[in-house]
Amino acid sequence: MRTITIKPKAITHNLNQVKKLAPQSKVLAMVKSNAYGHGVAAVLPALTQADGIGVATFTEALEARQLGWNKTIGLVEGAFTADEWQQAIEHDISCVIHHVPQLTWALDNIPPVESATRVVWLKYNTGMNRLGFNAEGVMAAAKRLHEAGYQLILTTHFANADNRDHPLNALQIQRFTDVLNALRESISADIKGSLCNSAGTVNFSEHHHDWVRPGIILYGSSPVIDKSVQELDLQPAMSFSAQIIALQTVNANDAIGYGSRWVAQQDTRTALVSVGYGDGYPRVVSDDAYVSVIDSTNNQSYRCAVIGRVAMDMIVIDVSTVPEDAHLLDSQVLLWGDAPHIDEVAVHADTISYELLCRVTMRPRRIQA
Ligand SMILES: *Cc1c(COP(=O)(O)O)cnc(C)c1O
Repeated sequence: MRTITIKPKAITHNLNQVKKLAPQSKVLAMVKSNAYGHGVAAVLPALTQADGIGVATFTEALEARQLGWNKTIGLVEGAFTADEWQQAIEHDISCVIHHVPQLTWALDNIPPVESATRVVWLKYNTGMNRLGFNAEGVMAAAKRLHEAGYQLILTTHFANADNRDHPLNALQIQRFTDVLNALRESISADIKGSLCNSAGTVNFSEHHHDWVRPGIILYGSSPVIDKSVQELDLQPAMSFSAQIIALQTVNANDAIGYGSRWVAQQDTRTALVSVGYGDGYPRVVSDDAYVSVIDSTNNQSYRCAVIGRVAMDMIVIDVSTVPEDAHLLDSQVLLWGDAPHIDEVAVHADTISYELLCRVTMRPRRIQA
């Protein structure tokens, strides 16, 4: 059966790794896009030691509140309308303010003193050039928000934190630090800072500030280009498996699947696995793509290449690496988990782990380990 297994213990372990990396900072655990595809309901109980969670949409924030999350919720793109701002107040959600309309809603509708919405994440554009005020705009907005009674967290987002040596990192850090210092001098020493996503948390330990905002690292994928999950001691939080439903031997020169893309060089034993892009396995993978076939009788695991086109419901794998006497029909096949790790599958699919995780569909059953 197609199965997504979520491992809350792995998430807690990875959160603890973040806390070791950033012992002085609070942790805003990012659970946007249904907790990177893992399912918010499954993930929240593993994050009780986080100081808050971060989401991208108001619906996601509300879902987390309904699931009983009673600590900080940070809405990282802020309210989209004045009405959403009002609802954020009603549900104690802390919002990013990244442009003038949001500033206006906040100044026109000031939440009560005890409200979590009195904490505002003020977004400074330091070089990503998506959301945020420029230096001048951020200083002006901070002054007005402070005078209206808001507590401020200056925030920005790295464009290249995965690549430590990228020249924009130093510039973003410099701009952020300069403005944070200026705000603390001219407005209030109490203003907090938040700079680092997962990659920044790993690569820039001098610049963690008050809040780090880890996402992908919590799910057990490496956020940086030069360190593996083994080096970072992370555990994958999702494993994706399916089942062998048929066996075949194709003759030399026979082709397999749509487009007859893969042609057998010799007689080849193959297996049909009941999974495809309709489940979230990527349709286009390189010739290096492989899965692990597990012989249930002895738990032996074999590395088998994915051959032919990935279809909606099926893939074909080459089982010539598996001994002839191994038990194959009905065996479990691991598409990602410990091996292959999702970071490897992402390379084979020419994408990033984030996208694969978010693209798992509703079809596989979901269980927790
Ligand atoms: C998604 C997101 C993060 C987390 O990014 P990762 O690369 O997954 O660690 C941090 N901050 C903001 C504003 C985000 O939108």
